[in-house]
Order: sequence, then C-alpha cells, then structure tokens
Amino acid sequence: MLSAGATIGILGGGQLGRMLAMAAARLGYRCHIYAPEADSVAAEVAAAFTNAAWQDRDALATFAKACDAITYEFENVPVDPLSVIPETMLAPGIKALEIAQDRVSEKRFVEEIGGRPAPYMAVDHSGDLTSAMARVGTPGILKTRRDGYDGKGQWAIASEHEADGIRIPDTGTVYEGRVSFDCEFSVILVRASHGEVRFWDSTLNTHEGGVLAHSELPAPAIVSEQVEEARALAQKIAEALGYVGVLTCEFFATKQGPVFNEMAPRVHNSGHWTIEGAVTSQFENHIRAVAGLPLGDTASVADKVVMDNLIGGEALDMARHLADPAAHLHLYGKAEARDGRKMGHITRVG
Ligand code: AMP
Repeated sequence: MLSAGATIGILGGGQLGRMLAMAAARLGYRCHIYAPEADSVAAEVAAAFTNAAWQDRDALATFAKACDAITYEFENVPVDPLSVIPETMLAPGIKALEIAQDRVSEKRFVEEIGGRPAPYMAVDHSGDLTSAMARVGTPGILKTRRDGYDGKGQWAIASEHEADGIRIPDTGTVYEGRVSFDCEFSVILVRASHGEVRFWDSTLNTHEGGVLAHSELPAPAIVSEQVEEARALAQKIAEALGYVGVLTCEFFATKQGPVFNEMAPRVHNSGHWTIEGAVTSQFENHIRAVAGLPLGDTASVADKVVMDNLIGGEALDMARHLADPAAHLHLYGKAEARDGRKMGHITRVG
C-alpha cells in the first residue's frame, strides 16, 4: 500500500492523466507526468513533469526512480522502452498494453477466451482486402491495426468498388464487417491486485463521427439484458491479463447478444460520469488499485445520469454551461479548440 505523499507516475499527459492526478491528490499522493508533448494538460495539475520522448530510455529510467508506482492513461505508449521500468512498479502491466495496441491481437485474444468480436480479417496488403471483403462481406470498416482512436484511421467501405485506391499502411489494417447494432455500451471495471473486481453501471454511449458524444443512465433494456454476459467477458479479460486498475470494454448490443468492439486498458471517456454519478469515480478507483488501497463503492448515486462531451468550440460558451444549476462542468485546460477535439465534458445527475 502506498503511503500518503508517495509519488504515482503517469505515462501520458492528456485529460485522463489530469483527472487521475486530481483524484490522486485528494488521496494525498503526488503525481509525476511523463509525456512527449510540452503542453500537457495533466502536468498542469501534477507535482512533477518529465517532458521526453517515448523512446528515451534514460528519461524513462530516471522517471521510474522518482516514482513509487507507475500507471498509464494512453494505450499507445511504445512497449519496448518500458523494459527499463521494474515490472512490479507498472499497473496495469505490459501485456494489457501489448494486446490493446493491436486490433488483431486484441480480437484474437478475446476470441481465445470465449468472446465474440465483429467478423474480421487482418489486411496487410491491398491484395488481402479483396479476399477479406469476400470472406467477411460488405459493408465493412477498414481500420488501422495500430494507433487508431476516436474513429481516426478508419475507412467505411459500403461496397467492393469503394476499396479501390485505398493504400494499406505499412503497420497493417483489419477489415471488419459492419455490425448491425441496437446501441453501444461499455463495461468499466476495476480490479485490485488481490483479484477483487467491481463494475460501474453500464451507460448507453452515443458516438458522432466515431467520437463519443454522450453517455447516459439508465441504459435501454437491451443493455440490461446483455450486461451480465459482457461483464463476464470483461472480467475474464482482466483475469487473463492479471490486470490491476480500471479496464474498459466497449460492446455493440445486437439481436444476437453483445459483440465485443474494443478494449482500453485505462480509464475511459464513457466513465467520466462516475466523478459525480457514482460513489467512487473511475479515476479514484484506478488510483486506489494502483496504490494497493481498498476499492471504493462503484454504485451509481442516481437512476439518471447524463454526460455530454464538449467538443471543439462548444466548450467556449462557459457562461451558458454554468447557468444550468444541474451541470457539473469540467474543462481540460486545452488552449486551442480544434474541430473534433475533446475540450471538456458536462455531467448532470438526477
Ligand atoms: P472504434 O474506434 O473501433 O471504437 O470505432 C469508433 C466507432 O465506430 C464505434 O464506437 C462505432 O460507433 C463505429 N464502429 C466501429 N466498428 C464498427 C463495426 N464493426 N460495425 C459498426 N460500427 C462500428
């Protein structure tokens, strides 16, 4: 168990790191952010900041010496240089990162433990795309195997001729059949080092242009019907990885049951509502798990909770957002409101 005043290192400098650092501060911990970008919104609220490249092993080793435990808020941290960090310091571990960084490994891993992803085929060369479309069917979505997020690195393919001219990146892609779903939901769990697992309620998640726009409780009946099966899979994933911390798995609720979409080995945008909407937030429970503290209660505090992301210029209208007495406004401190950029979120409880 980390004692008060201990330092938790966070790999990644975005809003998830910022909210983790704020939760850690409440529990008496200091956070040390490691990020390659100089303008880290997490570093602004942390005690220390190492601004260095992911590949800089010396900087990573020095960072590790300054920390008592290390976690990450970004799943695309390159894995090889992390070998300079003692394995026992890092939670969740390397295996979760390795699997979540590659959409094909992730789907294979999930299939091996009995889960059901969308029908897919790895596409490493343009020639493979034709056979993938023939085998999986159209319409479908071609996704980069690595470094995709928020719908980036994805091409919707409605029919075979639309695939003409798509250049397959060197790091490879995966072609997925388009799943016909009623809605999308996520399972967010926290697992302690001694194996205890707790789940938050699953929200209905709505995406716009591949980016999460809105999460809400209660979720529709189809989610309640499918959540047990989805939770069982998420728990199996966590156990197979020896996972410590918050893990998110996203699902499509279909007529045939829950279809696994992807996992994030970290706190997640679809769990931001837990800051005000649950007894213990995803951020606090992640810090508790990493620090070896007892986990907090994940129960929702109200039947109705709504979280809206503030994307691009939407965040700028602070006066309007603050005029709503039910709104809990969170701004991430990003200076530039670019289109599609997550600038903040608003949660309404009850
Ligand atoms: P992803 O980055 O893979 O989570 O994709 C972003 C969003 O695109 C998802 O939340 C869905 O709304 C949509 N999407 C991704 N893959 C599929 C699929 N195989 N079938 C239908 N919709 C999808």
